Amino acid sequence: MKDMIPVDGQFAMPTLGYDNLADVISKETLGFHHGKHLKAYVDNLNKMLPGSGLEGLSLVEVVKRAEGGMFNNAGQVLNHAMYFEQFSTTPRPMGDKMKALLERDFGSVEAFRKEFEQKGATLFGSGWVWLSIDKEGRCVITQQRNAENPVTMGLNPLLTFDVWEHAYYLDYQNRRADHLAALWKIVDWPVVEERVLC
Ligand code: MN
Repeated sequence: MKDMIPVDGQFAMPTLGYDNLADVISKETLGFHHGKHLKAYVDNLNKMLPGSGLEGLSLVEVVKRAEGGMFNNAGQVLNHAMYFEQFSTTPRPMGDKMKALLERDFGSVEAFRKEFEQKGATLFGSGWVWLSIDKEGRCVITQQRNAENPVTMGLNPLLTFDVWEHAYYLDYQNRRADHLAALWKIVDWPVVEERVLC
């Protein structure tokens, strides 16, 4: 997976490669989610780094080692960097290798999508649903609470949907399942597939 390296002891704000995602995520939601929520996590993490003993480590290494408030902010920076990176206004389809992996481990791409959506919809409270590769090379779907990321469980994370209310409330109100079902329209699969190799 893609990691982030601090420059002069500070992590940069992940940039967006788009400014709206059509009818799936509104410009207003993107503005709050990226410009306010993610910015606060980046700013908080950068304030906590000096003197923490974790200065100079990559973001993934910080997430693996940090605790408490520092873990929450570092985890949310990593989670959102991966989340925003995997979408596009011109999404490209899934390649044959990814399709074969999902068919092998879930039976079909449709069965994978159904389980992923169901695990996102039923996660109680705030968190993330993830597709990862485990140490044996198999695909697994996990529900992670709050700022958790599968790297802390030794997994290689590939794809994530944010189920915190701030990700969808302006556009979908309480209809989390509808939001999750719509997100497939904007997943840029080659970005997800590159994470398999990292
Ligand atoms: Mn979020």
